[in-house]
Amino acid sequence: MADCIFCKIAKGEIPSNKVYEDDKMVCFKDLNPQAPVHLLAIPKIHTEKLSDVDEATAGYIGHIFSKIPEIAEKMELGKGFRVIANCGEYAGQTVFHIHFHILGGKPFSPSF
Ligand code: 5GP
Ligand code: ZN
Repeated sequence: MADCIFCKIAKGEIPSNKVYEDDKMVCFKDLNPQAPVHLLAIPKIHTEKLSDVDEATAGYIGHIFSKIPEIAEKMELGKGFRVIANCGEYAGQTVFHIHFHILGGKPFSPSF
């Protein structure tokens, strides 16, 4: 998608603070962190949101989750972390390229 900011980050067309990258995904620091560690993990394909995931895109999502343990270890999140995907308007999604927030570095409330 030509005008998608996360596609541009995935292609390296605009800068980001990357902590992990391979042929299927990139993980980078959120511009407006909500925790001491706040990362965004995205696939290198454009899919708008979690409710659009299908057989063709599920492999990319599974790949992201297969790499989260390695990323969490690298970022010293051994005491725990949260993974959040905001899907659609009511969830407050603002960037419509599917992404997973990885939050850690402090204890969180058990409630939402
Ligand atoms: P959402 O609300 O869609 O789940 O989350 C979008 C996230 O993307 C927000 O936490 C916001 O701070 C982050 N974000 C938006 N634009 C950029 C950007 O250009 N670079 C980075 N690193 N993060 C961004
Ligand atoms: Zn995109």
